[in-house]
Amino acid sequence: MSERIPVARPWITEHEVHRAAEAAATAWHDRAYYYQAAFERAFSDHCGRRYAVALPSCTSGLHLALAALGIGPGDEVVVPDITWIASSAPVSYVGATPVFADVDPASWCLTPESVDAVLSPRTRAIVVVDLYGDMPDWDGLHALTKDRGIALIEDAAEAVGASYRGRRAGSFGIASAFSFHGSKTLTTGEGGMLLYDDEGLNDRCLRLRDHGRAPGDTMFCNEEVGFKYRMSGLQAALGLAQFERLPELVKRKQDIFGWYRDAFAGTAGICLNRTVADIVNGYWMVTVILDPRLGWTKEQLIPAMKAEGIDTRPIFYPLSSLRAYAETPAARAAATRNAVAYRLSPYGINLPSGPDLDRASVLRVAEALTDLINKLPPERKQNNDARGPWPVTGVV
Ligand SMILES: *Cc1c(COP(=O)(O)O)cnc(C)c1O
Repeated sequence: MSERIPVARPWITEHEVHRAAEAAATAWHDRAYYYQAAFERAFSDHCGRRYAVALPSCTSGLHLALAALGIGPGDEVVVPDITWIASSAPVSYVGATPVFADVDPASWCLTPESVDAVLSPRTRAIVVVDLYGDMPDWDGLHALTKDRGIALIEDAAEAVGASYRGRRAGSFGIASAFSFHGSKTLTTGEGGMLLYDDEGLNDRCLRLRDHGRAPGDTMFCNEEVGFKYRMSGLQAALGLAQFERLPELVKRKQDIFGWYRDAFAGTAGICLNRTVADIVNGYWMVTVILDPRLGWTKEQLIPAMKAEGIDTRPIFYPLSSLRAYAETPAARAAATRNAVAYRLSPYGINLPSGPDLDRASVLRVAEALTDLINKLPPERKQNNDARGPWPVTGVV
């Protein structure tokens, strides 16, 4: 049998290996923050932001942003129902309440309408996710929130390389967070970056991320209890080397999407990530939503693809359906309101999208998927969804 195809894998060359080795030998004492500073500058320049702060993860970046904005108990923060839990968990860390809004059937991101439907006098912020490398209607979200004192926080974890109307992911809202987890387009193994423009916010974040001491403090004088959120020099050196190859990494993601699109051309019942005029999609993960009439759910498809030697992942279950949130009033309300999230989620999988994939592997994945959906699934389940199947219209 041919080699197993993983769903995600970084693309590491000699350049990254060299930089990491250099950091292991030199990034100590006076140079302990040399690579972090260079990596931060590269990202703030790239995104057109005044400040960037390198962190251990995107999760810590979202936590820091919410904490620095003073969001806490009694406040509500809107999050999309379809996303990784890292978008919403930090809302709970600060003691605020996540409110799950529905997503758009084409971008799979929040819409101004779905957000508007859940705003309340207690809404303080919205965590807007650029899902799978696509971008939501940022202009509409800004227009909705700008006069209401509601902060937009961009979760750009999946969107490096994407842009909306000529503006790069990482430049939207009051603050933006990237992830450099091993599965992401640009990786440091684990890592993240928070970007913003406001000087006061920068001061607050720098104190909070370093155990509540003032930047530059050498006397261990903690002014409040904070967190310890820093990136190591080794990670930053790896990240800087990956950043220098960013155009190549993003182009490969776009090539991989193009190979899939061509391979599925003419296959009925398959809807891929959208491609629209004023958005550059970063295509972090090529994603397929199947027409429910094919009879295949993601739970049936994932093991069937695995049997063909191909790893795939489910698109996210609605957060409001997870045990982590079940039985909370916000989750119960979301489960009856968020029709699109609940209709899309059972039928979506992410296909192998690692930047080291070649065209032959993509063709093998597309052929395996096409063969499977031309057959009936192993055990055909009754569609018990009272709302009926979601009509998939965006056939490629
Ligand atoms: C990966 C991811 C995160 C979390 O990133 P970490 O660096 O693992 O904290 C957050 N949000 C989304 C949408 C992600 O895909």
